[in-house]
Amino acid sequence: MRFSRAFALVNNGVFHVKHFDVIVVGGGHAGTEAAHAAARMGAQTALITLSESGIGVMSCNPAIGGLGKGHLVREIDALDGVMGRIADRAGIQFRLLNRRKGPAVQGPRAQSDRKIYRNQMLQATKDQVGLTIVVGEVVDLIMTGASVTGVRLADGAEVFARAVVLTTGTFLRGVIHIGDVSRSGGRMGDPAAVRLAERIDDFGLPLGRLKTGTPPRLDGRTINWNILESQPGDDDPTFFSFLSKSTFAAQLPCGITHTNAQTHDIIRENISKSAMYGGHIDGIGPRYCPSIEDKIVRFGDKDSHQIFLEPEGIDDPTVYPNGISTSLPVDVQEAYVASIYGLENAKILQPGYAIEYDYVDPRALTSQLAVAGFSGLYFAGQINGTTGYEEAAAQGMVAGLNAACLALERDAVHFSRAESYIGVMIDDLTTKGVSEPYRMFTSRAEFRLSLRADNADQRLTPLGLQVGCVGEPRKAAFNNKIARLENARNTLTEKDFTPKEIAAAGIKINQDGSRRDAYTLLAFPGVTFPDIGQLCDGFGQIDEEIQRQLEREALYENYIQRQRRDIELMQRDQMHKIPAWFNYDNLSGLSNELRAKLRAARPETLAQAGRVEGMTPAALTLILAKLRQSEKQRTA
Ligand code: FAD
Repeated sequence: MRFSRAFALVNNGVFHVKHFDVIVVGGGHAGTEAAHAAARMGAQTALITLSESGIGVMSCNPAIGGLGKGHLVREIDALDGVMGRIADRAGIQFRLLNRRKGPAVQGPRAQSDRKIYRNQMLQATKDQVGLTIVVGEVVDLIMTGASVTGVRLADGAEVFARAVVLTTGTFLRGVIHIGDVSRSGGRMGDPAAVRLAERIDDFGLPLGRLKTGTPPRLDGRTINWNILESQPGDDDPTFFSFLSKSTFAAQLPCGITHTNAQTHDIIRENISKSAMYGGHIDGIGPRYCPSIEDKIVRFGDKDSHQIFLEPEGIDDPTVYPNGISTSLPVDVQEAYVASIYGLENAKILQPGYAIEYDYVDPRALTSQLAVAGFSGLYFAGQINGTTGYEEAAAQGMVAGLNAACLALERDAVHFSRAESYIGVMIDDLTTKGVSEPYRMFTSRAEFRLSLRADNADQRLTPLGLQVGCVGEPRKAAFNNKIARLENARNTLTEKDFTPKEIAAAGIKINQDGSRRDAYTLLAFPGVTFPDIGQLCDGFGQIDEEIQRQLEREALYENYIQRQRRDIELMQRDQMHKIPAWFNYDNLSGLSNELRAKLRAARPETLAQAGRVEGMTPAALTLILAKLRQSEKQRTA
């Protein structure tokens, strides 16, 4: 039986019983995306969370996107998700990272006004048809045999559904640490979810402990901005949403400063007082987002570390000093902040802290993020061992869509590694598990030349339309764009030009007698639309957006075809032997860390190398290429 219609019993404003198709527990980044996705699919959905004001809260830095992460947000947007649209509305500084590198590794990032983000997310959640917000603490899961059929709240109320998605972030048995002071908490100002964690124990799932940290927040009115370097956003902002056309909020610059020898001395002298180094925390932290203590210990040879001073909002004086997250005692935080140029008189509004929490080994989940062996229970977000808003939201999308599919008796939705970063992340999590908080990097994707942020809509909106999570406005905008792209491609390929005609248009080309169309010419290094515009007037009529898109596509056309062949070969070559003489030191594309692990592990086959911790498909491709080259050289 499935509940096709939600009904509620509300007495004196108190919520008592309700039946839904899908229940999402948690209103963070995974929870909001999951709830919206399920509701867009037509499932009657309840979003149950500790407080309405906590919906869309950014626990840590006031920013969305970045390298790899920006790709995820674009993919969420392509499926008509909410994160990209809201981040554009709240954006107070847009920067396209890696602008000077190729489009495949460029990542959109935006600094957000925390308050606007939260308010906009709450409003969008209230406005979403089929979505009901329920405030309460979920303490228990209601079971019928091996099926989860609802949840019980702390006040005893029961809510029923065909599928339940848990997205409780850092709240499961969360413990906050500042120096040697520890207390229970899901994040600063919120209680931990202890009873729910105890209930999850009953499922016999493999659990672990992870940790993460956040820097002290500063009062921007006490920072000496006049002496600091200022970093403005891009003049031509790159938005997350394919539907956004302009900024919504006022734009603000960030400040830049650096730690110095005195800062490092203060931290070194007090390192034993840090919760992370004083033996108070067992959990493993994010290697790619180290605390300032980690930086001083691990990179002792560096005498300075950069700090971005990021405003938290337009009418909020709070500043987020990106780069100095810590779990040192408050007096030490005050001392080291005061040692930093421009922060001599800066007042700390909220101390930095570390948080330790339970996570579920994601290998216990299916590729739909459902708990294997039970029906109707899904996990998404930081609870699965990831870190970051974007990773959480992308998982929320997967779990929300699939929970709705189960409830509405439709086929499950699958995301493949070849089509999306979402697929890469889900595959990594559910097959390799995590040994530290997992974050997205472009290097995790073997098809990264085709999995670009700019073409996320072309890759995923058709899937969204097929499964039913894309609304009419996006469908119309997408179809219009595809029609314009098709027309433009036809225009560029309908005529071939002789080398002589091409040279006459100012494009340097071998006079090899081959005729080429304008699209082929765009794939030549340095050839852009103004160049091919010299060949035919019609090319100049193609609108700017489509011109840029075709330039990116043409640039990668040849590489992508080669890459696909490489991956096919790769799959066949899993049993390729790695001889003892093979030297990883000659592989300049590998990180030092991975090289060291490979030297230690000495894998005998490529398949074994694939299981070395931290191995990426791109790194495996590199090893295979080098193996072939070395073998050829030895037999020559
Ligand atoms: P959250 O955003 O934490 O949302 C969890 C939601 O679940 C909340 O709405 C909460 O109210 C609700 N909830 C919990 N228990 C219950 C219950 N029993 N019943 C009902 N509702 C419940 N990420 C980075 O990328 N880099 C960093 O440096 C970084 N530092 C961080 C530092 C700190 C101190 C914290 C707390 C987080 C940090 N993060 C960082 C992580 C980032 O905040 C998370 O990855 C992201 O918020 C995870 O999203 P989520 O939806 O999984 O969980």
